[in-house]
Amino acid sequence: MSVYAQRPWLKLYSAGVPADIAPEFDTMLDLFRASVRRAPESIAIKYFDGALTLAELDERSDALAAALAERGFGRGDRLAVYTQNNPAFVIALLAAWKLGGAAVAVNPMNKHRELAYLLADSGAKALVCLEELYAAVARDVIASGETAVETVVTCSPLDGQTRDDPRLFASTVRARHEGTLDLEELIARYRGRRPEPVRPSGDDVAVLTYTSGTTGVPKGAMNTHRTMAFNSQTYRDWMGLTPQDSVLGVAPLFHITGLVGHVGIALLLGCPLIIAHRFEPNVVMDAIREHRPTFTVGSITVFISLSQLPGVTKEDWSSFRMIYSGGAPIPPAVTEAFLEKTGIYIHNIYGLTETNSPSHAVPLGRRAPVDPNTGALSVGVPVFNTVVRIVGDDGRELPPGEVGEIVTSGPQVIPGYWNKPEATAESLPGGELRTGDVGFMDEDGWFYLVDRKKDMINAAGYKVWPREVEDVLYEHPAVREAAVVGVPDEYRGETVKAFVSLKPGAQATEEELIEFCRARMAAYKYPRMIEFLDELPKTPTGKILRRELRNR
Ligand code: AMP
Repeated sequence: MSVYAQRPWLKLYSAGVPADIAPEFDTMLDLFRASVRRAPESIAIKYFDGALTLAELDERSDALAAALAERGFGRGDRLAVYTQNNPAFVIALLAAWKLGGAAVAVNPMNKHRELAYLLADSGAKALVCLEELYAAVARDVIASGETAVETVVTCSPLDGQTRDDPRLFASTVRARHEGTLDLEELIARYRGRRPEPVRPSGDDVAVLTYTSGTTGVPKGAMNTHRTMAFNSQTYRDWMGLTPQDSVLGVAPLFHITGLVGHVGIALLLGCPLIIAHRFEPNVVMDAIREHRPTFTVGSITVFISLSQLPGVTKEDWSSFRMIYSGGAPIPPAVTEAFLEKTGIYIHNIYGLTETNSPSHAVPLGRRAPVDPNTGALSVGVPVFNTVVRIVGDDGRELPPGEVGEIVTSGPQVIPGYWNKPEATAESLPGGELRTGDVGFMDEDGWFYLVDRKKDMINAAGYKVWPREVEDVLYEHPAVREAAVVGVPDEYRGETVKAFVSLKPGAQATEEELIEFCRARMAAYKYPRMIEFLDELPKTPTGKILRRELRNR
């Protein structure tokens, strides 16, 4: 039997943590309803000074679902959600599920072309959208007629609140837009109404989250009810979370870390999810002082920036029982400095959109080892019910200590990409996920990442795929060739750099090309540097040698 099937990492699990867990819920809706039944008056969401109970969340999502049902939204339909972290996001998710539909989680940083692509690709029939994003981006996209969106509901950052908060900013002044519905008005109008009950199945898509996977264009990862419910439970049981805990939501909710590591576990536990509209370190630090969260998971840059705020003391962090960080490599020195400053050890956690967040995590209470050769901090060990193999280029399974692609199977792995059977077959042959991450397992069962097979750039946990940026650069009239790579960056880990050659006789400056990209894509994607070359290096067959550019 292969060493991986024997799961040598099980001996590293925290005391009392089982090797496998039995899934408690098949759908996210069952998981939520169990919490509502158990403790309807428990706080589900804390948002600035406002709060929503589980019963209120249930009632509001019923009202939105009833309103959408009346407009023809039903089983199997997709509801796109395009907003910052706020209660409306969670209300929209629940409303889609209550109708047997799926949510499409859209990054609120997306600009016109990105949103247009996601709406068209997902075939979304309805859209819940932050009012200011509607005015700035979505209105034109919908007006272009290239989407299937029939119903648009706009919301303000305050919607779903029980109390007003003076710290909220000017954007809470709502504007009315022709052809759109207003979330608060809908909730008031439909309050007390329940949509016809629809029972989603575990195999139904709960959320489409967009990622480019290992190659190519953005694809909707089909996070099903079952995969999401399983990993919500993984978080809970791996970390020993209980309804007495409270979750600080510092990751964006549209990303799988926020969807499962914040929304999923808070709904499962029926405990408060503390969110702020967007990540502003001072506002989040105030929320930590005021609401005293016990758990969070997020990107390492978030924790660094919070711990470096002036005046932050160990006492401020004392409510936390544990913090996990994933999405990007953690320099070992950073965990040490954070521990010194806050008294809290940051546990590494690793996974992909395609694994509904964790496939690996450091067992609670253990310290991740550092690989002496590469200096990499271990990403932990495979979590419950999960088997991870290291595979060579020839498909052969490699023994401990040898470096190859990380290939993951388990109940949290998605069944495939939305309407992309070829990409599914390529990335998920036989249901096993080829992660595109390169690493190894040591003799004890700890895993380490050392490289990537995929072209992805990891800028502080935000993923950028060169192809998307190159496509935009090629639209500039002066650009002949473009290749985008990640280069080391002290703060973001990696940042985006473009190599460009211009058409004969054409002219363009670095600033001009950066601005051209900035106007057309989410802020974390546009190139921060451009280097002009007469000719980009290529293979004899004409393929641009990206790796050579990266190594320059
Ligand atoms: P995403 O689909 O946005 O969740 O990105 C997944 C990718 O993030 C993985 O394939 C890794 O390359 C990277 N990643 C996730 N967690 C970690 C971690 N703990 N350390 C290093 N890289 C990570």
